[in-house]
Amino acid sequence: MSFQAPKGTFDWTPPRSERVLAIREALAAPARRAGYGYIETPVFEDTALFARGVGESTDIVSKEMYTFTDKGGRSLTLRPEGTASVVRAVLQHGLHNGQLPVKLWYSGSQFRYERAQKGRYRHFWQVGAEALGSEDPALDAELIMLAADGYAGLGLTGVRLLINTLGCKECRPGYRAALQEFLRALDLDEPTRARIEINPLRVLDDKRPEVQAQLAGAPMVVDHLCGACKTYHEEVRSLLTASGVAFADDPRLVRGLDYYTRTTFEFVHDGLGSQSAVGGGGRYDGLSEMIGGPSLPSVGWALGVDRTLLAMEAEGLLADEAAGERVQVYGVPLGEEARRRMFLLVTELRRAGLVADMSFGGKGLKGAMKGADRSGARYALVLGERDLAARAVQLKDLTTAEQTEVPLTEVVDILKGKFS
Ligand code: AMP
Repeated sequence: MSFQAPKGTFDWTPPRSERVLAIREALAAPARRAGYGYIETPVFEDTALFARGVGESTDIVSKEMYTFTDKGGRSLTLRPEGTASVVRAVLQHGLHNGQLPVKLWYSGSQFRYERAQKGRYRHFWQVGAEALGSEDPALDAELIMLAADGYAGLGLTGVRLLINTLGCKECRPGYRAALQEFLRALDLDEPTRARIEINPLRVLDDKRPEVQAQLAGAPMVVDHLCGACKTYHEEVRSLLTASGVAFADDPRLVRGLDYYTRTTFEFVHDGLGSQSAVGGGGRYDGLSEMIGGPSLPSVGWALGVDRTLLAMEAEGLLADEAAGERVQVYGVPLGEEARRRMFLLVTELRRAGLVADMSFGGKGLKGAMKGADRSGARYALVLGERDLAARAVQLKDLTTAEQTEVPLTEVVDILKGKFS
């Protein structure tokens, strides 16, 4: 019997796995430079945290959570997103009692029972950043800029930024009522009609053409904003413009999570087919209160690592660039004693900071040299019985095939010199 990774999941294997590591680092780098500290939270949380934090009416909570009962009878859920956990951790540790905003970033697996397709998985990876406890349009603009810089840092040029505002608790209710009135008059199926009453904004996000066709004249949130929300949004826009971040206004952009208020944004890439969102986020001023905390106006984003990799592939950015730590020196021992000595030598080389590997499995000269070539190493060290007797080793430059004999006691320093 052979096993396969569960449906909707996959393994990252070399060399692609190395790209993933590099992407996570590159996406987080701008946030780290802006004073965001690293946070790691558990992969599972109390189910109620997501039910309340993400929202009962969302697809995530209503159909996509991996929920289970543990042996102590607790209902736990594999995290479907990072923000609720971060807010929970901030409240639990009182991080919000110090200087505000609390700036945090994370990187981790998320789990959603979704219909699996290219770019949409049941286990995927996000890098996220959150700034908690401040209501300041500069913070919204900062986060958006940091995400844009993350993509740019990877060389991506095809990422487009869409922004919108969803209003606040003052103006949202009026808009919601107007939208509900409009939606109730449409020809929609039962589940969608039910959604009108729970979360009408989500109906705007319905991708089905028969629904989209009826939404042409739907009221827009921009036409219902209060003065404060208008001013706030204008400030976010003008800071982005001033800092050279290109964006397009998308008055129909609503996002799948209940907690968003005011600024929302999404990064899309046109080379990805239907799953075009590579990242997104927004302001969530009410989330802390929803999970029992004090008022903590906050803003954040989550960027999809898997889709960012697909976007890089679509732009041909991963074509033939080397991935990972490239082996610099490769040991070719010939005979038992040489193998033992070579094991010590590569250990010494690694401790000296070089990337070194050697032939394993008792291969002969030909097989071991093939290994050296495949490893991509610049130098091979060939050690035979005669070399051992002479306390020397053959240093072979694999690009020129030039070979020199060097004393075993000096080879580490010689190689260190060559790579310094
Ligand atoms: P969200 O947490 O839904 O706002 O998603 C933020 C980003 O995570 C999206 O823009 C995607 O890039 C990525 N993402 C969300 N869901 C999935 C999924 N099922 N598979 C792969 N990436 C995902």
